[in-house]
Amino acid sequence: MEASLTARDRVGIQDFVLLDAYTSESAFLDNLRKRFHENLIYTYIGTLLVSVNPYKELDIYSKKQMDTYMGVNFFELPPHIYALADNVFRTMQSEFNNHFILISGESGAGKTEASKKILQFYAVSCPSTKLLNNVRDRLLLSNPVLEAFGNAKTLKNDNSSRFGKYMDIQFDHQGGAVGGHILSYLLEKSRVVHQNHGERNFHIFYQLVEGGEEDLLRWLGLERNCQHYSYLVQGGCAKVSSINDKSDWRMVQKALSVIEFNESDIEHLFGIIASVLHLGNIKFVADVRGYASLNNNQEMHWLLGIPAQVLQQGLTHRKIEAKAEEVFSPFSVDHAVYARDALAKAIYGRTFNWLVNKINESLANKDSSRKTVIGLLDIYGFEVFNVNSFEQFCINYCNEKLQQLFIQLTLKSEQEEYEMEGIEWEPVPYFNNKIICDLVEEKHRGIISLLDEECLRPGEATDLTLLEKMEETIGGHPHFVTHKLADQKTRKTLERGDFRLLHYAGEVTYCVVGFLDKNNDLLYRNGKEVMRQSKNAIIKHCFPSTEPDSKRRPETVVTQFKSSLVGLTEILMSKEPWYVRCIKPNEAKQPGRFDDVLVRHQVKYLGLMEHLRVRRAGFAYRRKYDIFLQRYKPLCPDTWPNWKGTAAEGVRCLIKHLGYKPDEYKMGRSKIFIRHPRTLFATEDAFQVC
Ligand code: ADP
Ligand code: MG
Repeated sequence: MEASLTARDRVGIQDFVLLDAYTSESAFLDNLRKRFHENLIYTYIGTLLVSVNPYKELDIYSKKQMDTYMGVNFFELPPHIYALADNVFRTMQSEFNNHFILISGESGAGKTEASKKILQFYAVSCPSTKLLNNVRDRLLLSNPVLEAFGNAKTLKNDNSSRFGKYMDIQFDHQGGAVGGHILSYLLEKSRVVHQNHGERNFHIFYQLVEGGEEDLLRWLGLERNCQHYSYLVQGGCAKVSSINDKSDWRMVQKALSVIEFNESDIEHLFGIIASVLHLGNIKFVADVRGYASLNNNQEMHWLLGIPAQVLQQGLTHRKIEAKAEEVFSPFSVDHAVYARDALAKAIYGRTFNWLVNKINESLANKDSSRKTVIGLLDIYGFEVFNVNSFEQFCINYCNEKLQQLFIQLTLKSEQEEYEMEGIEWEPVPYFNNKIICDLVEEKHRGIISLLDEECLRPGEATDLTLLEKMEETIGGHPHFVTHKLADQKTRKTLERGDFRLLHYAGEVTYCVVGFLDKNNDLLYRNGKEVMRQSKNAIIKHCFPSTEPDSKRRPETVVTQFKSSLVGLTEILMSKEPWYVRCIKPNEAKQPGRFDDVLVRHQVKYLGLMEHLRVRRAGFAYRRKYDIFLQRYKPLCPDTWPNWKGTAAEGVRCLIKHLGYKPDEYKMGRSKIFIRHPRTLFATEDAFQVC
């Protein structure tokens, strides 16, 4: 039986566009499954790359493989992430414009790995000089550092990115990587003080405790035992079999030195990490009046260089300004714990931002000549846990926005372009998730607005009043439901404090508890003031004395996040898009298992079928007449060296000479549309030869 199978039967088809039964979801799935079982994890839909996480090391990322893909036409070799990277690079080189690669998929689908593979490809394939090698190493090594501080084990992924990352790689005229810049988005700070069962805090804490040298630990006053630290044990899994904290620690040390952290930076940085651990171990007891007093703050006092008295006061009192006087009002024990955790989150969050800035300084290119960039977007994927909170709300909102961008840039704009160019076109229907984006972000009545409104009523508003307000305002929305609004059957699946959103990627039930608090992200003013007295240079930098005081309300977390996403969308819209869609084959993180139901669901919500239909019916390439003519005019004696007529006529003459068949192309108002990439490749090959 096996022997009678043709190669095509066995390994499937490498571009879905060529699939015979291209409209059938089952055929799509069959193809993906076949390839997956042959370790062929990559498949194209035109120039979009679909990648299925193999959950095992494949021997396809060697230097030899990179060389194979370098400078070869996209469709000539089996699909690979290197082929995509190479194609983007060469398009940038020939058109001298900016690009970005949007890597999407749910948590654990392989986004971060994909982005690393792309970066490695550029690092190896770009022209190198001694100076460029320096940049290259820093670009590469920024990864382990950011992952140490920004990634953690979750139930979905042992190395889950808990922040969003957009990285520009800058190239000079010769194609050398000359610099980079990283933007980070909303770090999940709450993880510093709380982890759900089966999850961990950020990797760096465990790396330090497990891998830190004896002297260092002694100096930091740390014990080599994660169990000793209350911020590290809540998830009950300080040790993870897939993670080697010791060797990761060594890697981070190496990386920090390459990125030009000097000894004092490193000292201060780990002083902070250690002090967060110490902070978590500070216990409060009630004094005779029921107010919080604390057991011990020696280590923190010494590590951060803050007088013990000041620190003690800061952790147990709140400063209130009454008329011209300053009054210190003591905390209850609960309140003190809350303030302690708020401080820990603030310290870690601000240090993370400092770290990103520091890396950016080291990646900055000082030469002001014009560069082109390739941006890599690796942002947290869609997430559904048993209990979902404010963090999942933000993450999933972000995924809605990116899906919206994808729709606008591919399905919508593609079809609009055909219309604009006057090309005959049968529209492909698709689900537009704008309705969900609006539900979340619409002015005055979107969830974000309602949440912010409630945050403006301290003392009166609670998480439950937020829920009521949402029920009143958006109760009738088809993508929103709560216990009260639900029909009988659905009601059984909802608790009273829940609301459910029907996201483009599926239903998520959010527990409203903690929304207000997390959105306010309140740090008591004297928490900040205490930090300002620190002798630690990084803390000093992170808590500047010029920071406006709490008299003016800072923007809420979700509003800041929303504006940062608007900024990101603008950055992306100004560049040419490329896509990698990552798929998670099973929930067990195991190799060789392809769960049909799970994959089918992802194929659906990622819009892959629609994308395929548009691609299939449409044209793989389009170029403005003048650009096309400018490049290829040497191929035809009539257009070379100078064409006197309009660019469109020139192109017509050129392609007639090249022998394009009528069904291979269409002439639009301002552009030529080419159906198959191979047509353009043949032309490009002829151009290279001539
Ligand atoms: P995401 O960023 O989408 O949440 P990751 O990129 O962190 O997911 O991938 C999760 C895990 O899956 C990785 O730690 C790795 O073990 C495995 N993995 C992902 N992509 C690959 C790949 N191309 N080859 C081998 N293993 C992979
Ligand atoms: Mg990731």
